[in-house]
Amino acid sequence: MTGLQPDSPVTRIPGLSTRDQQFLQAAGIENVRQLLRRLPRRYEDRSCTVPIHLIQDGDTVCARVHVFSAGWRFSYKRYFEVSAGTVDDPHGARIYLRWFNMPYVSKLLATGMNLSIYGKARTYGGKMTIANPDFEVMDDEDAGHRLVEAAMGGTLMPLAEKSPEATPIHTGRIVPIYKGLPGMAARTYRSIVWNALQHLAPDLPAPGYDVAPAYPYWQAVRDIHFPAAEDLHRKARLRFALAECFEQQFRVAWRRRRVQGRPGQVTATCSAYVEELLETLPFSLTRAQLRCVEEIRQDMASPRQMNRLLQGDVGSGKTLVALCAMLLAVGSGKIAAMIAPTQILAEQHYRNFCRLLKHTDVKISLRTADHVDDSGLVLDAGVQDDSPRIIVGTHALLYKKHRPHNLGLAVIDEQHKFGVEQREQFIASGVNPDVLVMTATPIPRTLTLTLYGDLEVSIIDELPANRGEIITALRNPSNMKRIIAFMGKEMDAGRQIYIVSPLVEESETRKQASATAEINRWREMFPERRVGLLHGRLKADEKDTVMQEFQKGKLDILVATTVVEVGVDVPNANIMIINDADSFGLSQLHQLRGRIGRGEHKSYCILLSSAKPGEPGRDKLEVLCRTLNGFEIAEEDFKLRGPGDVLGTAQSGLGAVEFTEWLGDMRLIHRANREAHSILDADPELKKPQHAPLRLLVKFDAEEGITC
Ligand code: ADP
Ligand code: MG
Repeated sequence: MTGLQPDSPVTRIPGLSTRDQQFLQAAGIENVRQLLRRLPRRYEDRSCTVPIHLIQDGDTVCARVHVFSAGWRFSYKRYFEVSAGTVDDPHGARIYLRWFNMPYVSKLLATGMNLSIYGKARTYGGKMTIANPDFEVMDDEDAGHRLVEAAMGGTLMPLAEKSPEATPIHTGRIVPIYKGLPGMAARTYRSIVWNALQHLAPDLPAPGYDVAPAYPYWQAVRDIHFPAAEDLHRKARLRFALAECFEQQFRVAWRRRRVQGRPGQVTATCSAYVEELLETLPFSLTRAQLRCVEEIRQDMASPRQMNRLLQGDVGSGKTLVALCAMLLAVGSGKIAAMIAPTQILAEQHYRNFCRLLKHTDVKISLRTADHVDDSGLVLDAGVQDDSPRIIVGTHALLYKKHRPHNLGLAVIDEQHKFGVEQREQFIASGVNPDVLVMTATPIPRTLTLTLYGDLEVSIIDELPANRGEIITALRNPSNMKRIIAFMGKEMDAGRQIYIVSPLVEESETRKQASATAEINRWREMFPERRVGLLHGRLKADEKDTVMQEFQKGKLDILVATTVVEVGVDVPNANIMIINDADSFGLSQLHQLRGRIGRGEHKSYCILLSSAKPGEPGRDKLEVLCRTLNGFEIAEEDFKLRGPGDVLGTAQSGLGAVEFTEWLGDMRLIHRANREAHSILDADPELKKPQHAPLRLLVKFDAEEGITC
């Protein structure tokens, strides 16, 4: 019989009962690979076998014992008792194993057997006893642990292959603890995994490219399930983490080389437009902003394509840096386009740019789904105007009709809000245009290389100086009265307020109802104030109107959903009230709070929540009260939710991360990165047969279009 292959159906695992097979199937486990991919949640060290004369009251122990006698006893309860010891023990020590309510045990045990046992020892009436120990019969194959499984309603194992000395599965070793499957005893599941491993075909090759051949893949699989020593499962996890990290770094290295090899456009390093803009601004750029502009300027001047990420916390002033870049392009006679994820944002940028550049001859166009304001540009299908200009738009920029032609610089605002394909499509509007992507989603610094290893990174690590303080406070909704009084006072002083609510999403009508209820609630509280409503289901021009009114100060209160989360900039608004704050994610709350504190006024973010200390959702609110620093918040978010959730999958291009160890381990990441580059140095096109699996890896990338 040839052994099991990873693709073999679980039905080929010897001894698997139909019932257990159904349980596995119900859990989506159909083949051996799927079975083995389900890793132990933890391990219990039952390897330390103790000579029984050394067992102390209260010890949890594992021991090898010989059954001297077995039989039913009765004291206050009926139980089956085995008196056991070691055959040649000069101390003559005994241990008494008692099973309550497990009558089948009596059928499995008999005088003369050798057992491996595990449980907590207790002295009763001078006798050392273990109640309901886990046990395996070690020498009698017919009545051994295999039968125990059967008796416990699990799997009946075949009796064919006898090993000279049976190996314990559940005792006498480091025992893997799996998350239970519905209907199946944990012990049964463990035996199934054990049997699968016992019957794996020898010499199976590692799947994919093997980055650590010195530690064979399948050995590591065995070690992660049934480690023979304490540090082996860690070693195995590390091996898989390295493999996972390597795959990710290999993709990054591959993309980086492709991108870096690309010729780009040359842009003049200076432009009168930039100088003019900086002169007319009522403030000067921060040092961090100037540094970023400089880095971008040099990239754009080089004959290679720019691929740069501009990272900066909310409110750090990324838009102006991007505008400088666009003016450099325009100054060199090119078209620069910026794509933003929402209409509100695109229009805000558009108005902003029009205002900032009104004294210049720079043409600015807005292209959104229902709005094409081309200020003097005749845009018939097929007719393209290639004159220098700045174009701002939404996804509409991706449609043929609105697609800029001959793009020199592509700027992507809030890049994490775009699908990979959309980004690629946008960039394809030019011949290798320079690319600047912006993100306000801070990620732990250790992850920058992981996620953006193929991009150059500029970081704005400083906020403009004119910012008023932001105070974040956690309040119980029962304090509403005082909050309302406070809001009234601030509005009297001319300030504006955001109120963010997680409005019901299930159905159109429910949503409408809850939005209406919410706005009425506030109108009743502030009858003399102007209250507006902004949510995702409004028509684009309605959103636009509301937003403009708020921006121009014609509304005092803006009741909104998370549509205000990205980018919205109204410096006069200094209060944000967040209803049911605990129902939002930490990073999302940070983004929301980023809408205030944009002007010189002291700002207040009031988190309403009835979560008490220690209750779920409370932690993140406390983090938010403690710090304003987006990077710190990202680290905390990372700790609270785990990297997989923070990074998401689609947006990060990371895919599902199984072995999260490597996400924070720079040494591992660097090692994987070096390995990836050394392979590509030696074989840039991956022509060597041993690199075929890597070819698949990046081919998949090309199809999925995973980039930054
Ligand atoms: P974000 O990085 O979150 O996209 P914005 O680009 O929207 O931030 O900038 C936030 C606000 O800060 C805007 O009102 C902008 O005009 C202002 N701002 C940008 N740079 C400076 C600066 N150097 N000094 C003062 N205010 C600035
Ligand atoms: Mg922004």
